[in-house]
Amino acid sequence: MTTAVGIFGGTFSPIHHGHLRLAIELRERLGLDRVHVIPAGEPPHRDRPGVSARRRLQWVQLACAGEPGLVVDDREVRRDGRSYTYDTLASLRAELPDDASLVLLLGDDAANQFHTWHRWQEIPQLAHLVFVERADATAARSPQVDAWWRDKRVTDPKALKSRRAGLLMSAALPPLAISSTRVRGLLKAGRSIRGLVPQAVIDSFTTEDIDFLTHDEDPAKD
Ligand code: ATP
Repeated sequence: MTTAVGIFGGTFSPIHHGHLRLAIELRERLGLDRVHVIPAGEPPHRDRPGVSARRRLQWVQLACAGEPGLVVDDREVRRDGRSYTYDTLASLRAELPDDASLVLLLGDDAANQFHTWHRWQEIPQLAHLVFVERADATAARSPQVDAWWRDKRVTDPKALKSRRAGLLMSAALPPLAISSTRVRGLLKAGRSIRGLVPQAVIDSFTTEDIDFLTHDEDPAKD
């Protein structure tokens, strides 16, 4: 049987239950063998220090520990320079059997920005895309991306396993209106974030982490 691997990248500053549900539910729904959860590396040109890639990676490891089918993948943290999704997919492809199906999972806000990504038009040579509706996203879908993918759309998840890359699917999940921005806002206001962020991650927070999180800039995601 063909291997099918999901890719779920993000800044994860910090990781929260919205992220975990997306990865867990889509792995089940799409019948993926595993989902690689990939924290973005250090974004260049920051004015103020944000949470380090190393620390965000540790939170992802704590959040995914013992979660079957979620694989924490540190390749973007290890890589120097900008973390381009194109390069991440290419490096994963090089490790997988030739016919393996790769499925890039993107929340709405990331999907709407997709046409600004490095080599976005070549990404379908490497992976399928699944756009996931997000309860708290307000931006409209980019018409450029819509037009470009029109003839690549499928509705049956089985189709994603029939080819190694190049198809687009939309998925709606029961919405969880959680974002890292909201978590950081609550922390800034001195309020509780229990129930939004895995408890193991909350328990690991140091004063320095909270300081960085509450002063975090919005880092680049692609
Ligand atoms: P921020 O608020 O700092 O922008 P975020 O909560 O959007 O952070 P990211 O690390 O930027 O988190 O997101 C990684 C991926 O997870 C993106 O594809 C994003 O759309 C998706 N995502 C984040 N939160 C949710 C959610 N509640 N439901 C569905 N998708 C989500």
